[in-house]
Amino acid sequence: MSDLTFEIKSHPNPRSAEERAAVMANPGFGKVFTDHMVVARYSAGRGWHDAQIKAREAIPLDPAAAVLHYAQEIFEGLKAYRTADGGAALFRPDANARRFRHSAERLAIPPFPEDAFVEAMHKLVQIDRAWIPDTADGSLYLRPFMIATEAFLGVKPASEYLFLTIASAVGSYFKDPNSTVTVWVSEHYTRAAPGGTGAAKCGGNYAASLAAQSEATAQGCEQVVFLDAVERRYIEELGGMNVFFVFEDGTLVTPPLSDSILHGITRDSVLTLARESGLTVKEEPYTIDAWRADVREGRLTESFACGTAAVITPIGTVKGREESFTIGNGKAGPVAQRLRNLLVDIQRGNTNDAHGWFQKVF
Ligand SMILES: *Cc1c(COP(=O)(O)O)cnc(C)c1O
Repeated sequence: MSDLTFEIKSHPNPRSAEERAAVMANPGFGKVFTDHMVVARYSAGRGWHDAQIKAREAIPLDPAAAVLHYAQEIFEGLKAYRTADGGAALFRPDANARRFRHSAERLAIPPFPEDAFVEAMHKLVQIDRAWIPDTADGSLYLRPFMIATEAFLGVKPASEYLFLTIASAVGSYFKDPNSTVTVWVSEHYTRAAPGGTGAAKCGGNYAASLAAQSEATAQGCEQVVFLDAVERRYIEELGGMNVFFVFEDGTLVTPPLSDSILHGITRDSVLTLARESGLTVKEEPYTIDAWRADVREGRLTESFACGTAAVITPIGTVKGREESFTIGNGKAGPVAQRLRNLLVDIQRGNTNDAHGWFQKVF
């Protein structure tokens, strides 16, 4: 157990219920922020200290802060949900704490204590609970992150860091949560290479994916499918979501974890729920050529992406430079819908949670 304790300094002038209702009427994703944030400091001599829940405000940063030059930064993403009884709950925050530690290790950042991470999430949701939307697909998106703040232009792990968590009231990630997305197969760009940072949740991976994302947008696609960096054949993930393939014989396939794929908590949860619901689950490599052929020949019936932000999102059409193909009738399929309902019911406390994933916030 860490001995980090959070001092609570409530916002002296939080927004009124009316102001809150006005901005939460149509929140979109990642634009509406709550009144508070979590902050803790690290310095090489003292370790983690000065942990606070305080009014959300801009953070002072020296122009030489290492994060601004060498991108020594990691983040997490998790959601708090409004339960049917009006309470609040978190989904597997301990899994986010563990992954945050792994990301820290990869980016040579001193790990944040896992128990303090989970406590910070509970405390922030407690103080900002009025910001959790009570709509069917609304939630409070929590964004913990760490940045290297030491003012020094040499290339080395910094000796000073800030841990922060901000929270955003969100609706669904895609405009229409019941429709499918069109994805672009990136032939030129890759997301992550063996030995690189693909399994760490760091901003640098996203910076490197933006050119591919722009290409996708120009092609009328919502997301990018990244292939492996070595053979450029194996499907890895969507750059912010893991990917699954459903076959007519009841098999569910997803690429195996590696150091170039992000170890998604939604991915892990879907694997568990799929096994329990009787699907044959395989974590094995799957190529873009097999995807095309299996769709053409009717063996593959559905494909979907999954992640905390967008939950489970069916893929309708796959576009590439040479050709495109549509999966089934291009609409959401029954397996994706069933898995989504199973997951959402646990997240919102509508069903018994046999896995210890659901954490009530008191
Ligand atoms: C966060 C993320 C995911 C999804 O992970 P979840 O834990 O399910 O939210 C997938 N891929 C990348 C690159 C990510 O950053």
